[in-house]
Amino acid sequence: MLTVEGLRSAYGRIEVLHGLDLEVKSGEIVTVVGANGAGKTTLLKCLSGTQPVTAGEVHFRGDRLTTVPAFKRLKRGLSQSPEGRQIFTNLSVEENLRLGAFLFTDDRVERDMEDAFEMFPILREKRNLAAGGLSGGQQQMLAIARALMGRPHCLLLDEPSMGLAPLLVAQIFDVVTLLRKRDVTVLLVEQNAFGALRIADRGYVMETGRITMSGVSGDLIADPRIREAYLGL
Ligand code: ATP
Repeated sequence: MLTVEGLRSAYGRIEVLHGLDLEVKSGEIVTVVGANGAGKTTLLKCLSGTQPVTAGEVHFRGDRLTTVPAFKRLKRGLSQSPEGRQIFTNLSVEENLRLGAFLFTDDRVERDMEDAFEMFPILREKRNLAAGGLSGGQQQMLAIARALMGRPHCLLLDEPSMGLAPLLVAQIFDVVTLLRKRDVTVLLVEQNAFGALRIADRGYVMETGRITMSGVSGDLIADPRIREAYLGL
């Protein structure tokens, strides 16, 4: 579904991605784990089209995306739920969801909204309240629900567990596994390596702009290097 080959990207003259290769197959949950500053967010920005690439190629569902502008990537079904949630705090929960559907004017928008409320009942309860009044975990659910309103084939999730209490972290990871049932393929970027690898099919480990390990999640969790460096085990 999504392939990345030799991807490089820079801020000014400082290169931060040094030639990444990765692949996400249809129906998979794939995670990229790595420490703060490894380049995970930059990778997602390159995929969603909000950060230029200096070399390499991105293909999505058979099309070359490398130089396609961000809004066209959305139209093709590649959607990002950004780091820090970035919901509109002054707008209601429902208005935030409708903004996620800005590409569409058909009847399916109402059905998609119902689906979102079924998936996240708390959002139905709070649909008319300002999104800024939601708890951190609820805001994260809203960010994911809003991204789903864009009817993505593949969802790019940037650190959905960031800043949440442990119980909520578990809830958010549960939500990500529900996306599988909705035929949404997921690329999940996380500092919480254990939580992410537990729900993912495969994982990549990223260190200072390079992929240093990859494999089936179970194998990565069992690997002594990962256990020591990322899982604190
Ligand atoms: P985090 O978990 O903190 O988001 P990350 O793995 O997502 O970390 P990036 O945010 O992609 O990492 O950052 C990769 C490198 O690029 C870091 O060294 C960071 O300081 C640098 N960087 C990120 N954004 C910018 C920017 N707008 N201008 C200059 N350098 C940047």
